[in-house]
Amino acid sequence: MSIMVPSTTPALITPGRQALDSALHQLDRTAEHLGLDDGLRTMLATPRRSLTVSVPVRREDGRLDVVQGYRVQHNVSRGPAKGGLRFHPAVDIHEVTALAMWMTWKCALVGIPYGGAKGGVAVDPTGLTTRELERLTRRYVNEILPLIGPEKDIPAPDVGTDERTMAWIMDTYSVNTGYSVPGVVTGKPTTLGGSLGRAGATSRGVQIAALAALGRSPEGVTVAVQGFGKVGGPAAQYLADAGCKVVAVSDVSGAVYNAAGLDVARLRAWAAESGGVRGFHQADELPREDLFELDVDVLVPAALEGAITEANAPRVRARLIVEGANGPVTPEADEILAANGTTVVPDILANAGGVIVSYLEWVQNMQAYSWSSGDVELKLRELMLAAYAEVTATAADRGLTLRQAAHVIGVSRVAEAHQMRGLYP
Ligand code: NAD
Repeated sequence: MSIMVPSTTPALITPGRQALDSALHQLDRTAEHLGLDDGLRTMLATPRRSLTVSVPVRREDGRLDVVQGYRVQHNVSRGPAKGGLRFHPAVDIHEVTALAMWMTWKCALVGIPYGGAKGGVAVDPTGLTTRELERLTRRYVNEILPLIGPEKDIPAPDVGTDERTMAWIMDTYSVNTGYSVPGVVTGKPTTLGGSLGRAGATSRGVQIAALAALGRSPEGVTVAVQGFGKVGGPAAQYLADAGCKVVAVSDVSGAVYNAAGLDVARLRAWAAESGGVRGFHQADELPREDLFELDVDVLVPAALEGAITEANAPRVRARLIVEGANGPVTPEADEILAANGTTVVPDILANAGGVIVSYLEWVQNMQAYSWSSGDVELKLRELMLAAYAEVTATAADRGLTLRQAAHVIGVSRVAEAHQMRGLYP
């Protein structure tokens, strides 16, 4: 049986709808491989809870805007729901559902006791003042308040949100509870109980996965990075620090290229100051889409879903793709890349460093104790490398791609949790 798409599907095929189709397609293939029965497949294909909220925001000029917000808990069979919060104009219920589903498999794959969740608000945060953004965040949190909590569902930063957003969420939740509850979010400022090492954790994980997959000295290995935000920026930096030559980087403003290698630290400073990578004087400009076709060793998509599709996959020349973003390669592109001999280290493995250190942050919060950055980094490395070894071994044993193997491990752990717990009532 193939998995049915939830009946709320609108006629319009949005990028979010495409992401959900990709996630359901991957689950379908995995369930087939594992021989899961129809009932369990449907359980795994459908979110446990989906909440859609209207968020009214008072603008500085007195106008009232109302934006749509979402929180989806895909699965909670292995522990509390966990997942980021995205502020982006293209957010819809389908995208949030897909991202929540990928969180479920990711947490199971790296062996941390969480289910998967995601939240989103369909808004462009760059078009709001800080005060508008704060009001929006606090009102959204108030609307989803019954769902979240340190033992229920723990948000974290994603596209368009950051540690300041997490501080507002922690404060709003705490004010409503009557005492400080740092464990309700991760990715907080360290002064509020954030973990050392969380800010760069996803990127550090990308670096660990990339170096493991390279299997040779990183010295002189050429890299292109799409997206220069919280994941792409530090990932480019860490790969350059390891000896790689980062030759191209893109963000919403454009793309820059330097065959001799970009000075990533300077580029980060430039992007922070000018609002984007475009115009960086020690590089040539490149049409944004051309970044995927560069003759590089490693390509790191670290922006949004659906970056590499059947349209551009045939022109990808990188031998290795390490997915910093969630869902950047469509299933059709996956097949083309596999046929062309390109190795893809999948999102649920490559970008798991973020949720791993989020888990470490939450453990520290629950113990009211904080660990050194060395302890955090050691644990991150240990969990990333253990998951990487398991995925590569499963892929070799079963003749699967790394993505298929990662999904087989993640989905089978969640399926097993369901089978062990049984069905209530
Ligand atoms: P961010 O908002 O900090 O950065 C996003 C970056 O992508 C920005 O530089 C933006 O300019 C760029 N971008 C957007 N559209 C682009 C396009 N068409 N071409 C080139 N660049 C484009 O977000 P982030 O937190 O870095 O998240 C990036 C990806 O990583 C997302 O898929 C997210 O779900 C995933 N992820 C994030 C974390 C985390 O801890 N933040 C953890 C795991 C996965």
